[in-house]
Amino acid sequence: MTQASFRRDFLTKPIFRIAQHALPRLSDTEREAIEAGDVWWDAELFTGNPDWSKLLAFAPARLSEEEQQFLAGPVEELCRMLDDWRINWEWHDLPPQAWEFLKSRKFFAMIIPKKYGGLGFSAYAHSEVIRKLSTCSIAAAVTAMVPNSLGPGELLMQFGTKEQQDYWLPRLARGEEIPCFGLTSPEAGSDAASMIDNGVVCRGTFEGREVLGIRLNWHKRYITLGPVATVLGLAFKLRDPDHLLGEREDIGITLALVPTHLPGVSIGRRHLPALLVFQNGPNWGHDVFIPMDHVIGGVDQVGKGWKMLMSALAAGRGISLPSQSAAGAAFCAHVTGAYARIREQFHTSIANFEAIQERLGRLAATAYLVDAARRMTCAALDDGHHPAVVTAIMKAQATERMRVAVNDAMDVHGGKGIMEGPLNYLGSTYRGVPIAITVEGANIVTRSLIQFGQGAIRCHPYLLKEMLALEDADRARGLDAFDQAFWGHVGHSLANAWRAFVRAWTGGIIGPAPDAGAATRFYRQLGRYAAAFAMAVDVSLLTLGGALKRKEMISARFGDILSELYLASAALKRWNDEGRQADDFPLLEWCMEASFATIATRFDEIIANFPVRPAAWLLRFFIQPFGSRRRGPSDRVTDACAAIITNPGAARDRLTVDLFHPTETGAHANGVALLERAFAMTVAVQPIRDRMRAAHLRDIDQAVKQRTISAGDAAQLRAAADAVAAAIAVDDFAPEELTARGAATHGDVSSQATSLPQPFAAE
Ligand SMILES: Cc1cc2nc3c(=O)[nH]c(=O)nc-3n(C[C@H](O)[C@H](O)[C@H](O)COP(=O)(O)OP(=O)(O)OC[C@H]3O[C@@H](n4cnc5c(N)ncnc54)[C@H](O)[C@@H]3O)c2cc1C
Repeated sequence: MTQASFRRDFLTKPIFRIAQHALPRLSDTEREAIEAGDVWWDAELFTGNPDWSKLLAFAPARLSEEEQQFLAGPVEELCRMLDDWRINWEWHDLPPQAWEFLKSRKFFAMIIPKKYGGLGFSAYAHSEVIRKLSTCSIAAAVTAMVPNSLGPGELLMQFGTKEQQDYWLPRLARGEEIPCFGLTSPEAGSDAASMIDNGVVCRGTFEGREVLGIRLNWHKRYITLGPVATVLGLAFKLRDPDHLLGEREDIGITLALVPTHLPGVSIGRRHLPALLVFQNGPNWGHDVFIPMDHVIGGVDQVGKGWKMLMSALAAGRGISLPSQSAAGAAFCAHVTGAYARIREQFHTSIANFEAIQERLGRLAATAYLVDAARRMTCAALDDGHHPAVVTAIMKAQATERMRVAVNDAMDVHGGKGIMEGPLNYLGSTYRGVPIAITVEGANIVTRSLIQFGQGAIRCHPYLLKEMLALEDADRARGLDAFDQAFWGHVGHSLANAWRAFVRAWTGGIIGPAPDAGAATRFYRQLGRYAAAFAMAVDVSLLTLGGALKRKEMISARFGDILSELYLASAALKRWNDEGRQADDFPLLEWCMEASFATIATRFDEIIANFPVRPAAWLLRFFIQPFGSRRRGPSDRVTDACAAIITNPGAARDRLTVDLFHPTETGAHANGVALLERAFAMTVAVQPIRDRMRAAHLRDIDQAVKQRTISAGDAAQLRAAADAVAAAIAVDDFAPEELTARGAATHGDVSSQATSLPQPFAAE
């Protein structure tokens, strides 16, 4: 008997038996979710010893010449066409010329390859377009986002038959078809796989021919673009009671294209999601017959719908909502820095108050971090990866951080952020937050079940191998594979326990790090937490096994740590890729210190609440012997971050690069344009005001009389004051305008869609 077979038969075999009961078993939907996409930097983090040289070697995301021209041309042009106030409150839709422009300039076909007439853009370009549109109109951004995200286009590209691709993709690219995707139903939201929408395989008549097909019955809701869609990508459960396709009766979740003009299809009225008026509504179908070739991928793909969805989501989830969130955070940093600078209370700019700086600092650093992660994730997608765990992290984290950023922006703006009207530039972003939080996997479920639950299985170097070995129907083969994986796992755990111990007890000053100048110490600290994470994961899997899935609060905290490791890596990479700008260093430092504090707190919470107490004591000893000692960013760093967005300069420009900057007033004075003007003028007159302050003078006339300032200076000061007055103004409305609106919405409910309120007049 060889040494290897002795180990397998006498040591591994009993463990194999115990593990069959202890390790979580995969449900079919979990297995399909786990098989979708691939792993990337997330897997490196799970090793406990990330190779930083790999991180720094990933090529940064870049735009081609053509993509840059699209952003400077059609995207800019579209932004100038949009009046967010009138879209949301007056027209309740995008104007017809914007719809036409979106279709004709192929905004709905960014992901469709050129050979089908699409734009064939990179993930990064697609993301940049959504980012810029989001800073102008959320309704327009969502409208452009959906056909390029999970839906018929993406599914056809990945799984469609050649005939389907040749027929549908050019039509979608030309904007002749408007797609939507129907998964959610009243009874099945987060648990979408529990839908009762169904299809039955049968023979029927389609366009005069008798063919094999499917009779569909469904009721979907919340479907974006549903009210205007010409083709519905539909998810339903397929049954074959007459065995027309084969042995199986319950075939499972299947995806098909349903032209909305077919008899039996009902497109309902519109939902009004958070008063943002992108097209969204319910739809249902009663005995709608489609031929078998309307199944995406044809008859070979029946029953594989869940896997297809997860696969499509693996990429899309990393682009749309993270781009909207990055835009939201950058926009909030941009306008709030400017507003804090121009708004004066207690005879000074509110930007001078420490408590305001606390919010401004967090805003600036949040904008830096979310955009760093967005760029890094897009680069991975453009490099051919489909990292499902990374994109889930991005979706949940970017949207949560946008929420923090928007709340900070609202608080700093005070009443100016709250009063709705054409002059308000924060309302839409604020109302859009819960939408981004809810769609493409609501955040609570994504944080507590997916980030870590799937991450642990997908990215762990050994766990999935062990699980698949345990489930292998061929026991001997399973035991062999388990033997290899298990002993590899043991070596991995011991190495990480040692690493975690040494790095924790030395306060994170020992460990590999690239020569990254002032940032070198951050790599060491992050490496310390990566080792602690890997060790804690193994201890949890060993002691809780399958029960970890139900310990959602523990799992969510692990998800947070994994997310922090990912986002902090992205911040380090951004600083490096942007040439290690000294001016941006406070932003990096803020992100890193905040991240370390969150990680240390989550470890503390895990240890305090871990149900297996001896394991908790072990973790305490190895990874955080002195408790959570990270305090987050210092006041000095926060102050420096705040200064970046309250002063013009290259660091501010880098942070808020490529936002839409409105210059025209259009139908109404544009609040952002007024603010930018006031900001520039306030900054320009600062030296004059400093001179007056030094002379203890507040009155302009007196300052001129005393020759502290010139007449020209006085004119400049008065012009700046006028610009500030215009920028801090808010809208008001005649009482009857608001009453008219109330009557329209509370009166005849069935006529809501036609008796829209008349425009509110701006101040
Ligand atoms: C504006 C908007 C646009 C949308 N567009 C589309 C679309 O185009 N196509 C489409 O098919 N769908 C669409 N949706 C649906 C969206 O994907 C669902 O809203 C989402 O999946 C959540 O479902 P739900 O709203 O029913 O919430 P529920 O599933 O009822 O969830 C309620 C809460 O419970 C939490 N929760 C659920 N299960 C768990 C669990 N196991 N553990 C912990 N927490 C849990 C959730 O995180 C959430 O916080 C859209 C929704 C909105 C609001």
